[in-house]
Amino acid sequence: MNAGRATPSRQRRTPVVALEAGAGPENPPCPACGEPLFGWIDARPGLAGPVSRCESCGLGAVGSAVRVEDALEALDRVRDGEAIRIANRASFSAWIGGAGWAGLQPSSRYLFTPESVRRLVANRDQVVSKSRWSPGAGIATMWQTVLNGFTFGRNVALGRLGRAGAVHAERPWQRRLDALICVVVAIPALLVAVPLELTAAATRRGSTVSLHLELL
Ligand SMILES: [Zn+2]
Repeated sequence: MNAGRATPSRQRRTPVVALEAGAGPENPPCPACGEPLFGWIDARPGLAGPVSRCESCGLGAVGSAVRVEDALEALDRVRDGEAIRIANRASFSAWIGGAGWAGLQPSSRYLFTPESVRRLVANRDQVVSKSRWSPGAGIATMWQTVLNGFTFGRNVALGRLGRAGAVHAERPWQRRLDALICVVVAIPALLVAVPLELTAAATRRGSTVSLHLELL
């Protein structure tokens, strides 16, 4: 009679599975921390493949080929002077944006978090000595993430400004409409994005983070 109801004894028996148990060909190990990667976003136009993520350090990986050396190379490509600047996959904008997160660009292979960088660079005896929110780039990423909620394509506005890789809509009329939407919604989106990003930064979940590395 009570077949559909979980009894207290059934609840107590709910198994707790270690992350390692999910490892397998479908879930390759995270190049930063070794825990299995799990599916996050399906393959779609403008991406090299489906996106998986690490539940432990937060690293995201596009496509199935994941290697420590590749991830370190990708990290070196986002060098900004003495520091590296990452779009933070552990940010509030990535959480609300999902597949529409502006940090997810056509060139993206790895999506970093401060924790995944800390673990990755330990492979070459480096430590993260300083971590700082980048206000301008952070607000721009949040702004574009909000805009992506209104357009057919992705990253259309920042793409036009040369600040991000854009994925344009398939049909000409959609692209024309996207251009119009970006103009009409730009200011309202900014009025939403600024307080959202400031709140995110205050809780250490800013969209863009600058990290200083030092050799041990
Ligand atoms: Zn990881």
